[in-house]
Amino acid sequence: MADRIYLSSPDVTQAEEDALIRAIRSGWVAPLGPEVDAFEEELAAYTGRKYAVALSSGTAALHLALLNLGVGRGDLVLTSSLTFAATANAIVYTGAEPVFVDADETGNMNPDLLEVAFTTLAKEGRTVKAVVPVDLLGKVVNHERIDAIAAAHGVPVLSDAAESLGATRYGRSAGAFGEAAAISFNGNKIMTTSGGGALLTDDEEFAQRTRYLATQARQPVVHYEHTDIGYNYRMSNILAALGRAQLSRLDEMIDRRRQHRIAYRELFTDVPGVTLFGEPSGADGGETHDNFWLTSILVDPEAAGFSSEDLRDALGIRSIESRPLWKPMHLQPVYASATAFIDGTGERLFKDGLSLPSGSVLDPSRFARVAEAITAFLDSTRAAA
Ligand SMILES: *Cc1c(COP(=O)(O)O)cnc(C)c1O
Repeated sequence: MADRIYLSSPDVTQAEEDALIRAIRSGWVAPLGPEVDAFEEELAAYTGRKYAVALSSGTAALHLALLNLGVGRGDLVLTSSLTFAATANAIVYTGAEPVFVDADETGNMNPDLLEVAFTTLAKEGRTVKAVVPVDLLGKVVNHERIDAIAAAHGVPVLSDAAESLGATRYGRSAGAFGEAAAISFNGNKIMTTSGGGALLTDDEEFAQRTRYLATQARQPVVHYEHTDIGYNYRMSNILAALGRAQLSRLDEMIDRRRQHRIAYRELFTDVPGVTLFGEPSGADGGETHDNFWLTSILVDPEAAGFSSEDLRDALGIRSIESRPLWKPMHLQPVYASATAFIDGTGERLFKDGLSLPSGSVLDPSRFARVAEAITAFLDSTRAAA
């Protein structure tokens, strides 16, 4: 049996191994140290932000950013329904209530529905404390519109860029938008520290306050004085060393994923009912705004003669992982009673969407295995038609 091919496995090489050994031998086996400082500087430089704070996860970055924005009990936070649960969960950690806004065709928050949400909630006398748009599967949000709408209502934007590190939008890096941005280095993200994340901002006080809250809110005195509730959210020095090695290879890893995208595009040309998800449209200026984290397709079962699930099953039999897009938060049992502004787009993308193996570790022979499996499936459906 051939070994299993995953969507996005960690891509680690000798460079990462060397970095880990360097960190351990330095004696800095702690959630602080020179690797953390250097990683923060390199992250800020890479994304074009003034400050980066390395944390234990992307979820921790979202949580602390929301606290810094003053979000708390009874507040409303507008966020994308089509996202990973971490976005909404971080809002709940603060005591605030997530209000979900549906996606448009790009998979990102629909600006028109965001307007509707603001207007409707204002009529009900409910005030919004923050907007958290999500860069779905690596594609940067339309910040020109989303940020303008939030600004018109005097509400700050926190960018969930957990999936989009390395992408740009009209020359500006993912993570450089909003009051602050959260990025993630979980195991299957575009780069990994096995687990970890960072908060990015241009505001020095925001960065300072994040570091303070992430280290149990310890006042700078010897006897551990506390005037706030803090968290244990810092990244370890060892993992920061891993992150530095990954960051130095990020552009090369993104390029590999871009090659996969090009190959998939070729594979599905002229297949009726199948489109590549999130590809640039003319309306979007022809730019991709994408880091190619995951390549996904949309299958219209009427036109294609098969469903995304049929293809997923066929790949699964050949030990190849594929996965539907995120199940929208407004359809999740845990968020069933949340307020939501929905037009059905996210649900359709969830139903018709399928993410395909996209990792930078996929070498040509393994990618060929995926391509052959897809071709065999497409041939069999054509034969059956
Ligand atoms: C992965 C992810 C997160 C959470 O990051 P962790 O590092 O896993 O905590 C948040 N938001 C989105 C959209 C993600 O994909």
